[in-house]
Amino acid sequence: MKMKLRKCSCGGTAEIVDGEPTELGAKMLREYGLIPSRTYKAVCSSCGKSTASFPYGDEVKADWNRLNPLPLRKYVRVVRCKDCKHRKERHYEESGEKPYIKYECKFTKYSMSDDGFCSFGARMIKDGDKNE
Ligand SMILES: [Zn+2]
Repeated sequence: MKMKLRKCSCGGTAEIVDGEPTELGAKMLREYGLIPSRTYKAVCSSCGKSTASFPYGDEVKADWNRLNPLPLRKYVRVVRCKDCKHRKERHYEESGEKPYIKYECKFTKYSMSDDGFCSFGARMIKDGDKNE
């Protein structure tokens, strides 16, 4: 499976570039004059955030993605019955009593309190609202 670099948490884009030698690589160079094997790291081109250096691209990607977790899902705002377009006003009149108004849901057929809500909730479209 090909791993993809996520977007940086700053919104920028990360690139994989040459990294610094690993600790072991640096020691081999220092003590034995051996040229360390190539390493890679991911750097954000906007904010400069960078991973550590790793010998394999997949390790870089994994480290980068760990540093830049996906944003939490945005919560969906519940539509209260009083703002719901499915709310229906019903006038009741019983003999010998004062007429009264009840609000009913067109879906559930139940009378709903102003603060009630259900999965059918849909915001009334008011002027200036975007149609969703
Ligand atoms: Zn960034």
